[in-house]
Amino acid sequence: MALVLINETSGSLASPGGWYTVAGRLTGFLGSYLMLIMVFLIARIPWLERAVGQDQLVRWHRRIGGWPIVLIALHIVFVTLGYSKVDGVSWVKQMNTFIFHYPDILASLVGFALLVMVGVTSYRTVRRRQAYETWWVVHLYTYLALALAFAHQVVTGYAFLHHPLAKSFWIALWALGAISIAAFRFALPLLRNLRYQLRVVSVDEEVPGVFSIVLSGNRLSSLAVSGGQFFQWRFLTKGLWWQAHPYSLSALPNPPFVRITIKDLGDHSGSVAHLRPGTRVFAEGPYGTFTHHQRVTNRVVLIGAGVGITPLRAILEDLPSNVHTTVVTRGSAENDLIHREEIAALVAQRGGVLHELVGSRQRVKLDSASIRRLVPQISSSDVYICGPAAFTDHMANTVARLGVARERLHSEVFAF
Ligand SMILES: Cc1cc2nc3c(=O)[nH]c(=O)nc-3n(C[C@H](O)[C@H](O)[C@H](O)COP(=O)(O)OP(=O)(O)OC[C@H]3O[C@@H](n4cnc5c(N)ncnc54)[C@H](O)[C@@H]3O)c2cc1C
Repeated sequence: MALVLINETSGSLASPGGWYTVAGRLTGFLGSYLMLIMVFLIARIPWLERAVGQDQLVRWHRRIGGWPIVLIALHIVFVTLGYSKVDGVSWVKQMNTFIFHYPDILASLVGFALLVMVGVTSYRTVRRRQAYETWWVVHLYTYLALALAFAHQVVTGYAFLHHPLAKSFWIALWALGAISIAAFRFALPLLRNLRYQLRVVSVDEEVPGVFSIVLSGNRLSSLAVSGGQFFQWRFLTKGLWWQAHPYSLSALPNPPFVRITIKDLGDHSGSVAHLRPGTRVFAEGPYGTFTHHQRVTNRVVLIGAGVGITPLRAILEDLPSNVHTTVVTRGSAENDLIHREEIAALVAQRGGVLHELVGSRQRVKLDSASIRRLVPQISSSDVYICGPAAFTDHMANTVARLGVARERLHSEVFAF
């Protein structure tokens, strides 16, 4: 950034179209800089995943998302206007000159068009209308877009023209981004899966529409995972091998077994009921910071509904024995309380308190008054919430109103 500014002289600003050109260079640099940050946010860098959590990283990635596209669009407009004023030609003629006489500009414009396509399909209202997999495949074009734009940055980037050191630094930063993606999104998961060799052992219906998948693997005792974490699972069968979906462990690993519990909510989650024993499974992770390591007190309240109960079941198993535990599970019918017996046994084993609330939302309310009655010491506890998005939001607001400080409120939403 400093180089972009230092390189501009009062002369260049005073020249015809000078301000346009400077604005163009600044917006171009900022746009590519934000793109680089976005690459690092989704590179699955282990220490970043552990410190921040994948859901938060994805949220930041998404929040930044539109800005590089806007900035790069402004870069194209400003630079074209600036150069057209210097040469005294129309912006159309200038654009023509850029495309046919400047190195790498055409490729970078194609890259920009791909970025716009990715941006449009990621826009919330458009994204909601597509299958997740369609959005994901289109998103992969971002890599091509970045590759196409890169040469233009380093060959014609004004800030780098007389600064070989800055140019090398910029190339090194992007190389680091590419290496991080290759290492942490591809090589590391591949090595881990060659080591663990996971296969489906059994598929059991827990309650109607909810299935536990038990998998077995080699050397799972070396798998460092905490209760509440999730993996991206890829079941290697026809029709499913190409899509990875996030599911949390519903119990701590019990080598050689691990277990996930899945509610049928769509194509993928609905297909798992038909998995055959012996099916190979590719898992990427563990990810997520929704674990007992986040807690700051020795008093924990776990509040769950629907399939959101499953990671809480694993956290419950992982909590140190000196932690006082209250579990609140919520369901419209008894059938909705997944892993009911297991949770009751784990709570009893550690001398905790279990409240099962069964009934319609109108009849069995989970509001400030009922939470205060069920968990009188909630304001001095760490609270973990997982369930449908509306339930999680409602509960998080309710317990915050009851005095649970931000750093003691932990929640997981089952959608990115
Ligand atoms: C961190 C995390 C942990 C989860 N843990 C569990 C669990 O333990 N048990 C369980 O039943 N469900 C869990 N889910 C939800 C589960 O991932 C989705 O229900 C499943 O991916 C839906 O896919 P589908 O094809 O069946 O349905 P679709 O109809 O394709 O999708 C339904 C919704 O699920 C989300 N979704 C779909 N595919 C993905 C994907 N690949 N990655 C992220 N989100 C996606 C989208 O928001 C979509 O709108 C978890 C989700 C997250 C983010």
